[in-house]
Amino acid sequence: MAQDTSTDIPLKVLIAGGGISGLTAALGLRQQGHDVTVFERTDLAKEFGAAIHIGPNGHGILKNLGVFPEELGANQFEKLAEYDAQGELKNLVDLLSLDVWPNKWVGCHRVALHEKIKEKAIALDGPGIPVTVKTGSLVVDVDPESATVVLDDGSKYTGDIVLGADGVSSNTRKIVVGPDIKPRGSGKSLFRFMIPREAIQKNPRIAHFAQYNGCMSSWHGEVCRLVMYPCVNNTLMNIGAIHPSYLSPAKGEGWDQEASKEKLLEVFGAFGPQVKEMLDLVDSSTLKVWSLLDMERIPRWYRGRLALLGDAAHPFMPSCVAMEDAASIAALLPRGTSKDDIPERLALYQSIRDERAHRIQASTRNSGRDLSEEEKRQFDCWSPSSRCFFYVLTPLQGRTPFNTTLITMSGRILQRSSKNISNTGTAPKFRSTVHHVWN
Ligand SMILES: Cc1cc2nc3c(=O)[nH]c(=O)nc-3n(C[C@H](O)[C@H](O)[C@H](O)COP(=O)(O)OP(=O)(O)OC[C@H]3O[C@@H](n4cnc5c(N)ncnc54)[C@H](O)[C@@H]3O)c2cc1C
Repeated sequence: MAQDTSTDIPLKVLIAGGGISGLTAALGLRQQGHDVTVFERTDLAKEFGAAIHIGPNGHGILKNLGVFPEELGANQFEKLAEYDAQGELKNLVDLLSLDVWPNKWVGCHRVALHEKIKEKAIALDGPGIPVTVKTGSLVVDVDPESATVVLDDGSKYTGDIVLGADGVSSNTRKIVVGPDIKPRGSGKSLFRFMIPREAIQKNPRIAHFAQYNGCMSSWHGEVCRLVMYPCVNNTLMNIGAIHPSYLSPAKGEGWDQEASKEKLLEVFGAFGPQVKEMLDLVDSSTLKVWSLLDMERIPRWYRGRLALLGDAAHPFMPSCVAMEDAASIAALLPRGTSKDDIPERLALYQSIRDERAHRIQASTRNSGRDLSEEEKRQFDCWSPSSRCFFYVLTPLQGRTPFNTTLITMSGRILQRSSKNISNTGTAPKFRSTVHHVWN
């Protein structure tokens, strides 16, 4: 009887885009034993980006892949501090006493994380076949039926499956869902910059803003809000200054739109003197403004042998959702998956990711919304209408949903699991936003 040797044949996986989702998928698929090539349009030499926070979901995925954010200077979140626009402390929550997540919630320098994932993916040692990363390779077309990638120089590569991880302005999305679904401004923009923690601590009028290690702090005005957290072993503060886009028109969709300190201080002009003193520490040359994007739900995640992941599928989400996509696709394609199994696996991928990703998207939209004064007065995180839910998915560990944790920035904490719902928090009236951490 002829022996089926298909289980010994690695899949040939082609990935468009070498960002966090593309490289995480590449690393996971390498570890599953597949032969992976990543096409990245840039030379990956001038990576930039400030910090990203990695929720317990992302942290668990990275650990499973052998990437340990703490080794990159990522610091665990230990506290949440909430201030009003004048800089008066409204709530302080001790996160370490909670002990509710299976993995840590950390702040990490994005470039260090991206570099480490790439390093592990292409390393000559380690399990599987080292990933090939072809830089300077702009993917201009994909034939989803034959899994063929076409680059801008006309060269073609054919594999068994293509992953579209080409970010917010994705070309591959157009192939899967057509040209009409594209990102649009959400109405909010973000100034982003880093300040050495020491610079804040040296000024006695504002030192208290940086007194705690691993503190996720926020300052809430009527329509503007600041979020600050440390990375690089608590030495560098990452600040995002969220505001209505019409106050600082950005020119494009990228993360690197130049901005001025004058504009930042003007937009946050109604904030208290200490808050503005802290903002004044920014080095203008590092200040960027970015328009926060939103996009309607994609009706499908794959076509033929081409599947989308990360920002290509759902911009305006925490980057851990992109890591979840990557981990899911790797988990669904173990070594031994035959080429013929791919369409069925991609259908499964879509059914796994679609509901969760879009629930998170809805939840992110909800938390980004400014509440009216009446809504602030009425706010009750226990109310189902607050829609503040978190879902567990740790695909590589095969855990089942649903064990969830919610922390509101009002200092209220909701722990919810399949068995019980318990309230361990205080209940002040002040509430401007809800912070989401996915287990
Ligand atoms: C430069 C940069 C800085 C960022 N900084 C932050 C930050 O400070 N904080 C934060 O929370 N998030 C940041 N993000 C976003 C965050 O990394 C992503 O939202 C998230 O990780 C999802 O990643 P992704 O891989 O889907 O998309 P991206 O990280 O956007 O990666 C997409 C990759 O695809 C490449 N690409 C695009 N089109 C093509 C094509 N046609 N052919 C080949 N390659 C292509 C891009 O060059 C890029 O490397 C940043 C993203 C970028 C690109």
